[in-house]
Amino acid sequence: MLKIYNSLTREKQEFKPIRSGEARMYVCGLTVYDYVHLGHARMLTVFDVVQRHLRALGYQLTYVRNITDIDDKIIERAALNGESWRELAQRFILAMNEDCAKLGLQRPDQEPRATDYIAEIIDMTQTLIAKGYAYPAASGDVNYSVRKFAQYGQLSGKKIDDLIVGSRVQVDDSKLDPLDFVLWKRAKPGEPSWPSPWGEGRPGWHIECSAMSVRLLGEHFDLHGGGMDLQFPHHENEIAQSCAACDSPFVNVWMHNGFVRLNDEKMSKSLGNFFTVREVLKTLRDPEVLRFFLLGSHYRGPINYSAAQLAQADETLLGLYRALQDAHDAGVCKAEWMAEFRAAMNDDFNTPEALAVMQAVARALNSAKEAGDKSAVAEAAASLRAMGLSLGILQQDPSEYSKRGVGATLTDAAIEVLMQARREARSVKNFLESDRIRNELSTSGILLDDKPGGVTEWRRA
Ligand SMILES: [Zn+2]
Repeated sequence: MLKIYNSLTREKQEFKPIRSGEARMYVCGLTVYDYVHLGHARMLTVFDVVQRHLRALGYQLTYVRNITDIDDKIIERAALNGESWRELAQRFILAMNEDCAKLGLQRPDQEPRATDYIAEIIDMTQTLIAKGYAYPAASGDVNYSVRKFAQYGQLSGKKIDDLIVGSRVQVDDSKLDPLDFVLWKRAKPGEPSWPSPWGEGRPGWHIECSAMSVRLLGEHFDLHGGGMDLQFPHHENEIAQSCAACDSPFVNVWMHNGFVRLNDEKMSKSLGNFFTVREVLKTLRDPEVLRFFLLGSHYRGPINYSAAQLAQADETLLGLYRALQDAHDAGVCKAEWMAEFRAAMNDDFNTPEALAVMQAVARALNSAKEAGDKSAVAEAAASLRAMGLSLGILQQDPSEYSKRGVGATLTDAAIEVLMQARREARSVKNFLESDRIRNELSTSGILLDDKPGGVTEWRRA
């Protein structure tokens, strides 16, 4: 029985899907104006593990993770670089896909982009105005009136008046209440915009998730996830929009992952103390070390990032690979171990506990090797591999992995991912990006040879 901590009810609950055997999950993805940083990597990895486990339990899962491809920061950054917002967003979507592949993340079933859902967003905004929840303001924006939604504050557990006192809300005279938020933003001169009943403009951030989740998963679905910092106001506002527009409960279970901390401070762009995944991966034996490190803490708590912690993760993971080395795996797992592993994962995705089970199996595997007990070796190796698969680790060739030094060459799979990203970049004539990928590969000792007919071959230097 799977139990999940629900941020809305503040307790661990048995997961009961709305439709028997199915699960529908929406996760708030990235705003694409820069490279993926460690905080993003954690969120992405947490929900990748959630989706793997739901599928392993046999649920027919639909996993949607959105891409915010229009927003103030994208517009500002593009203007600064002298490129169009579309080019900038496309560039960082490609970069995100590369980083995700290196971290062993499976692609969600759908990755909707906000600007592909402008009609749905306008539709929902019109519904909210018609039902009296939203109003066109003197500023030209359309705002949501939080006081009209009686349950506002249910997710963050706060009353509107407390929220107003506690938040530093920008003063905007055209808002009826300081907490009212923008559904549709009037375009300033020169900004990208779309026509709407309220003039040229673009969507606010919150409405895109409501409009896209309703469109892709329906008015009432099982799971909604994101980083803890999105709980208020983003997810509170999503609830206000979707419940009011659809007269429906919206989401059953809200899941939030904790922060990555650096020297006990939250790691974030705004504080300037963040690392990109690219920077971190350069220091590692293999990207899998970062994934392993992220899984070493329970998703709801904070993770403290340090080079020492990463080195520890590297050593432990290497130990698991070494245990698998020269261990013949007949494919039959030990039921008792698998049950222990599954119980840990069923307890609100307790990955540290699951990794502890794996370490115990690795110890048993090493002892069986020493004792020359071939059937025990095979059973332990198969179990360890199977557990690794459901966490997205331990699937590489153990002897190759063990030989690899820190900062050494990429795996074949990672090279293929980069090659695919380069083909995609070339197909849209983004030669800056395709050259960047060629350089990245070359610094890892991978040389490319572009053949006639668009075929590219690679070889290790
Ligand atoms: Zn969202």
